[in-house]
Amino acid sequence: MIHDRERSGIGMTSARTRERLIDRLKAEGVKNPAVLDRLRAVPRHLFVDEALASRAYEDTALPIGFSQTISQPYIVAAMTEALIEGAAGRKLTRVLEIGTGCGYQTAVLTGFAQHVYSVERIQPLLERARGILRELRISNVSLRHADGFRGWPSQAPFQGILVAAAPEQVPVELTEQLDEGGVLIIPIGARGRQTLVRVTRAGDEFNREELMPVSFVPFVEGTST
Ligand code: SAH
Repeated sequence: MIHDRERSGIGMTSARTRERLIDRLKAEGVKNPAVLDRLRAVPRHLFVDEALASRAYEDTALPIGFSQTISQPYIVAAMTEALIEGAAGRKLTRVLEIGTGCGYQTAVLTGFAQHVYSVERIQPLLERARGILRELRISNVSLRHADGFRGWPSQAPFQGILVAAAPEQVPVELTEQLDEGGVLIIPIGARGRQTLVRVTRAGDEFNREELMPVSFVPFVEGTST
């Protein structure tokens, strides 16, 4: 059970600490007010281990176990912004996320999509994320333990797809699950030299834009229990 005091945070997780993070994100170029509001509202400290809670509002990635990390807030904000702006006012009815991790980006996305479908290949991470999202009473989300390489065909098409791990190339299985006008945000490339890419669907054409250099954990095929 998450108490209100825990949710709103105290000391290093207080409103003032969170506001400093928002100021930093603005300084780094995040402009969309709805994205900034969402990052202000989602309690990132609840998604990391208690021992790391005091660092939850620093703009850094943090370990979440199983050699994975919670993404840096700037990256979560930039990806969310790239998705919303790419959708250009179209309604995000269904959004697919690959790489639930601790569920933080998932929670951010639920503020913008009617429903978020999120896939994670490491079962214990998925179960932990499920618990936190439930405690936060976020209900417009479905989680699935599977290899995200295949997307989630039975729920396609998606107006948005956001991938939190980097494959070497854009998986066709994912672009095929984009709705008309749909947007895929995905890091592409080998470790150490990845680029965040936005693919927008127009009929059978896929328009590709390179957004910025990024550093993600690798996209791994198959699942793990
Ligand atoms: N947005 C998450 C990021 C977690 S790191 C957060 O903020 O916590 C990326 C996640 O992608 C890891 O949990 C990793 O297990 C997962 N992942 C990597 N390859 C995957 C695949 N093929 N299918 C599903 N998830 C995958």
